Amino acid sequence: MSDNIKTLSIEGRPIKDMSAGELAAITFRKRCKFCGGPPSIRIRVLVQLDELTRREPEFVAMIAATNPDGPIIPTIATTYGAMVRLRDYCACSACQVDAEVAAAHYPSWQIVEINRAPSEQAAWEKVSSLV
Ligand SMILES: [Zn+2]
Repeated sequence: MSDNIKTLSIEGRPIKDMSAGELAAITFRKRCKFCGGPPSIRIRVLVQLDELTRREPEFVAMIAATNPDGPIIPTIATTYGAMVRLRDYCACSACQVDAEVAAAHYPSWQIVEINRAPSEQAAWEKVSSLV
């Protein structure tokens, strides 16, 4: 780790003095969905396109009909095939437990991915690797 990295700052504040949540807010440009606080976790809900088409054909047709880029369904390529992102939001450390409990109640055919913000050390190493 060079000394130059230790002097990096955003809006006049050194990065080394920022919490992992603050760094996540900058990285994801997101705030807590429930209270607007700095994010601690990010929750994404994905479903396979084939599964969504089978279970919710009207919903898929509505996406295709209203997509400004044409009659296609935006998908994310994963090792499990093309996935549709249904939800993508963050929660702060105070709302984290409630958000995780709520995410556990989504239908079983929806895949919930929870990304926890890195620890301050991990965040620091990630930022360092980008410089
Ligand atoms: Zn919150």
